Amino acid sequence: MVFSQPSGKNKTSPFGTSDDRKSPVPTFRLKPKDAPPPSMPTADDLLESARVVSLPMRTMFRGITVREALLFKGPAGWGEFAPFPEYDDAESRLWLAAGIEAAYLGAPQPLRDAVDVNATVPAVPADEVAAIIGRYPGAKTVKVKVAEPGQTLADDVDRVAAARDVVPNVRIDANGAWTVDQAIAAIAAIGDVEYVEQPCRTVEELAQVRRSVDALIAADESIRRSTDPMRVAKAEAADIAVLKVAPLGGMRSLLNLAARLPMDVVVSSALDTAIGMSAGVAAAAALPNLHRACGLGTGAMFTRDAGMSFRMHDGAVEPRSVVPSDDAPLASAARRLWWEERLRRCHALLVNR
Ligand SMILES: [Mg+2]
Repeated sequence: MVFSQPSGKNKTSPFGTSDDRKSPVPTFRLKPKDAPPPSMPTADDLLESARVVSLPMRTMFRGITVREALLFKGPAGWGEFAPFPEYDDAESRLWLAAGIEAAYLGAPQPLRDAVDVNATVPAVPADEVAAIIGRYPGAKTVKVKVAEPGQTLADDVDRVAAARDVVPNVRIDANGAWTVDQAIAAIAAIGDVEYVEQPCRTVEELAQVRRSVDALIAADESIRRSTDPMRVAKAEAADIAVLKVAPLGGMRSLLNLAARLPMDVVVSSALDTAIGMSAGVAAAAALPNLHRACGLGTGAMFTRDAGMSFRMHDGAVEPRSVVPSDDAPLASAARRLWWEERLRRCHALLVNR
């Protein structure tokens, strides 16, 4: 079994998701001069070197306080398999494809030796914002979470103002939580921002907000969990696309999509450990056009990372490979088994499609 080439006749997206089970898995589109694709590793190959880490987080994020990831080694380095626990196998198989690409094919050719990254401020009280930004040395851009359930618009306004006091260039992320009317009102109240990420859930709502406000709109979930990432472009629903390596099935899939999208791209992590982060930084370093800070500084959200964290210097990180630390905190035996079984199911979906 080798990594297959796309059919070319298939008009559907190469980035399959849970409701698109027959879509092709993103493939490693090698140029003819490159080495032939490596053989597809078996699940046993992957599990032979596997370790499941469990990383404590400084602040609750996405409702979790511990980030688990299964790491495995291949001839090109280490790969990460860490779909969020609620993701189904069909969606999670793309994350496995990305881990296999990293471990068996390695990073694409870099075009730059440093990538600007943003600081990330979770939905904390305004008086905690400055200390959090302080963990990102030299950050020139801050991303602030807004529209957190249970909080008010006043909380968002205060939090963004506190961030702006430290770093003027602020982008906000609502994770799809606003209605169109709420988004328009919130954007007016919050004021000047670099862009508003995923103000509402659907592509149609994004397009409606974008037509109603001057602020730039970025699409994240609308691309990451969509059967057709190009729909955002066709609907003129966003000015910026937030792309993540693992949900798109790998670094090369991300680069292929970026080349097709007629808009600025920001590469972001999916709360990756340092192993997955190295693939994100590599993809960002290989993008021909990159004009904005990437969301690849989230290693600062772990109290301990799986390997040497990507620490910002002068607001940027540098591409490099990462190996797991021997003392990285490991998951319990029960959780390890859960991840191993999940990997086997996702692997079966990758090879038996
Ligand atoms: Mg986002």
